[in-house]
Amino acid sequence: MQTRHHPLVGASLGTGRAITSYRFGPGDESLPSVYIQASLHADEVPGMVVAWYLKQFFAELEDEGRLRARITLVPAANPAGLNQHWFGVHMGRFEMASGHDFNRRFPSLGPDLAMRLRDLLTDDAAHNARLIRAAMRDALAARKPSTELESQRVELMKLACDADLVIDLHCDWEAVAHLYTTPDAWPAIEPLARLLGSDAHLLADVSGGEPFDEACGATWRYLRDAFADYHPIPAGPTAVTLELRGVRDVSHELAALDAQAIVDYLAHCGLIDDEAPALPALRAPATPLAGCGYVYAPHSGVILHKREIGERVRAGEVIAEILDPFEDRLTPLFAGTDGLLYARHWTRFATAGMLVARIAGEGVARSGDLLVP
Ligand SMILES: [Zn+2]
Repeated sequence: MQTRHHPLVGASLGTGRAITSYRFGPGDESLPSVYIQASLHADEVPGMVVAWYLKQFFAELEDEGRLRARITLVPAANPAGLNQHWFGVHMGRFEMASGHDFNRRFPSLGPDLAMRLRDLLTDDAAHNARLIRAAMRDALAARKPSTELESQRVELMKLACDADLVIDLHCDWEAVAHLYTTPDAWPAIEPLARLLGSDAHLLADVSGGEPFDEACGATWRYLRDAFADYHPIPAGPTAVTLELRGVRDVSHELAALDAQAIVDYLAHCGLIDDEAPALPALRAPATPLAGCGYVYAPHSGVILHKREIGERVRAGEVIAEILDPFEDRLTPLFAGTDGLLYARHWTRFATAGMLVARIAGEGVARSGDLLVP
């Protein structure tokens, strides 16, 4: 195991943070590469515990010579966000200086690389893949970020840009295990969904806002669109965001199971020399991210839930009520779609217009930016 520290731009005099990464596996550059990170939203810590279990599993597998891939592990992808506390409450999703979501606005390299590579691409897809990866490394190395947040985004992209498989570990407010990926990546990710026991698998080509997982594949998508008529451009990395239930679902038991599921998946893919277990049944079919029904509070009040996360609901069913004790109002919140009630807010007090719950439906109902703002 190699430990490396990647310094970030210091936000103010006397401060300086760094991302810590761990490298496992043979140095052979021809082997596939896997990148796994946790807690990019710094207050989502179930994945950090999973990463700690993975660190031990990978170290043991490395000692036994059973890794068939180069693996990079980042247990805490957001050191800046780990230190944001507002009167005792951890604020790990948005950078307090800019208001930016830590998992948005990852750099798009497509237009830059199209200019660099347009005269260098050939009819050999493997050659083009090597060219694209080298150009991505050069383009990221040439960036001169001026803020801590920008430098954090660039350092994470540098760590991930070589990967064939990218796994980004997050969690939701209160939720069952679910994941986000693209329709193209879904067949490769489906065994992981089975092993993890994921209940909802939300697919979108572009969910909006340039989250990390999509940014890892966006350059390849851009180049494919630009050069598809002239040169073969490989599909790029398989990327997935795993939502490891809710923020309070932090325990040795869950983390050990999730880490084992990831190791089993890597064995299933031939990236670890181990017997892969039989795949459990998929718990539900994948659904479009655009099919998710978002339920909002029409006015402020206390949220009284009527249905539990993990339950299937029907369109028109009351899933919660909002209590206004001054006007004696008890306002029902209705499911807008049939589907799985997969996530809901952790707070029990709603402000007017607040997003209260989300339902994974099958129909395409939304467009534009599809993720939670
Ligand atoms: Zn997150």
